[in-house]
Amino acid sequence: MSCNCSEFQETAENLQFLNKSILDIVTKLDEQTSMLNRAVFKSATHCGCIEIHATKQLFSDRKTLEENKLDMDTHVEGMLCPKCREKIEEEMGELIFYLASMCAALGLDLESIMNSKLEHLKTLGIYNLL
Ligand SMILES: [Zn+2]
Repeated sequence: MSCNCSEFQETAENLQFLNKSILDIVTKLDEQTSMLNRAVFKSATHCGCIEIHATKQLFSDRKTLEENKLDMDTHVEGMLCPKCREKIEEEMGELIFYLASMCAALGLDLESIMNSKLEHLKTLGIYNLL
């Protein structure tokens, strides 16, 4: 079953009883971001299926953007185990739910925002990263 953004937003809007106020939506969205971040970090600190080894990103003025892009690192080593993957996907789903709720409360359309951003990314390409 593939996802239709408009259907997702409409369903989120219809199920949003307790947090209908934009104030509640904003705070829930913020809280959910923290929960997602925590799930990512717990994969490293509690489970250990991934490790995070952060180092300074090396960017050279003598290389092209494409060459520099190849040198950039996610700082993630290993792969998410099924349990951590499921937890992170669940938290991401909640985050998208609150984002869709915010769209509904403000009279915005999540699908057109995604389409607009996609066009922007395609137009700017790698320069979007700067
Ligand atoms: Zn894990």
